[in-house]
Amino acid sequence: MIGRASLFLTADLPLSLLRWPRHYDGEKCGRHIPMRSTRVSATSVGIHHPAIWPYRQLDVAALRGEGWEPTPFREFVLKVHQLCNLACDYCYVYEMADQSWRDRPKLMSTAVWQAAARRIAEHVRDHRLTQIGVILHGGEPLLAGPDRLLRLIADVRAAIPESCTVDIGMQTNGVLLTENVATRLADAGVRIGVSLDGTAESHDRRRRFRNGAGSHAALERALDLLRSPRLRPAFAGILCTVDVDADPVDTYESLLRHRPPHIDLLLPHANWASPPYRPAGRAEAYGRWLIEVFDRWYSTTSQETGIRLFEEIMDLVLGGYSRSEQVGLSPIAVAVVESDGSIEQVDSLKSAYPGACVTGSSVLTDPFDSALEHPGVVARQIGIRALSAECIECPVHRLCGAGHYAHRYRPGDGFRHPTVYCDDMLVLIGHIRRRLTADHPEIGT
Ligand code: SF4
Repeated sequence: MIGRASLFLTADLPLSLLRWPRHYDGEKCGRHIPMRSTRVSATSVGIHHPAIWPYRQLDVAALRGEGWEPTPFREFVLKVHQLCNLACDYCYVYEMADQSWRDRPKLMSTAVWQAAARRIAEHVRDHRLTQIGVILHGGEPLLAGPDRLLRLIADVRAAIPESCTVDIGMQTNGVLLTENVATRLADAGVRIGVSLDGTAESHDRRRRFRNGAGSHAALERALDLLRSPRLRPAFAGILCTVDVDADPVDTYESLLRHRPPHIDLLLPHANWASPPYRPAGRAEAYGRWLIEVFDRWYSTTSQETGIRLFEEIMDLVLGGYSRSEQVGLSPIAVAVVESDGSIEQVDSLKSAYPGACVTGSSVLTDPFDSALEHPGVVARQIGIRALSAECIECPVHRLCGAGHYAHRYRPGDGFRHPTVYCDDMLVLIGHIRRRLTADHPEIGT
């Protein structure tokens, strides 16, 4: 079975919403990496910066001088509400390094979303974009209430030039998704993704209310709605964070029961300072877990659903390009607008260190182009030039791309490392490549 239900491009934020070919400059970039001069003092390179790569070592001016051009943002994540009605134990917003949510407005104001809409429109015009995605995100976006969300959506749509298609999505924990809310959002053209971590037992172990009660029952009601003929077109898919202690096939089949058009399997956020939980004696546990799901998914005669991580790796094996930030070397074109108007990098970086997402720009004062020159953004758009020497020597580096950027972080020197899931990526990619080439010898190895 080769092929995909459709093409998707997003950060792993959540939704599989957007469908456009992605500019690729990975391998073509070559391996020369413009570095700042080493003839500077330790103080001037900011040796105590938590991420010397890229913030003190990547020379953006030199890259531009060589003719490198940034990729415009095409996906805009709006943090419409900072808080959440759940208290999931692995949440990167509340439970990990960055705690900036405490200092931001709880709700995105009308003034901020209208400024964001104007800045997105400006970016669309300046770069002649014909398709963009806007994702309503949080915290939990439904805490903002449907009336407010619908006003925001109307303002965004009104601001964007008619020449550009706007796909609007929302990632929710599903607890507040009533029939009335879901119908109004669907009628406004919103595609809805929900977070579900497999079986009720596995989901309720981690995705709980503050009183400790599990949220699975509430989510089941939301998923029943999204499966209905009326709302099914608005169902974007399920996002599931891997629980390596759960049975992989049971997990997959429990997700499949809701007939999602797409599933995103995400590795728990971790890095070299905060490595992932690994059961004793189970090296490569995440890779082996994913392989079991892959074999179950790949071995069916007709495709039951799409699983983005596997489809991405298969595309890469076939010589294509990646469209997510979990694998491959394609440039990341995602900007986040926080509830105070700050333009930030993808928020999974909150798992690394406080302030890791900051660009210093705001929709209230700056165009999105100002963030395109930020070293953190640039480092995610230069393909192979952002990889460590170890990764460049690795036989699967074009496919793996050092994995998720947030998972490469090592305190002190930053993001120029293999992913902390390196061993898992090696076994997973090797397995998928072997299965694919066994079925289709014409692919070669
Ligand atoms: S498998 Fe490991 S060494 Fe190879 S590219 Fe990925 S992270 Fe780097």
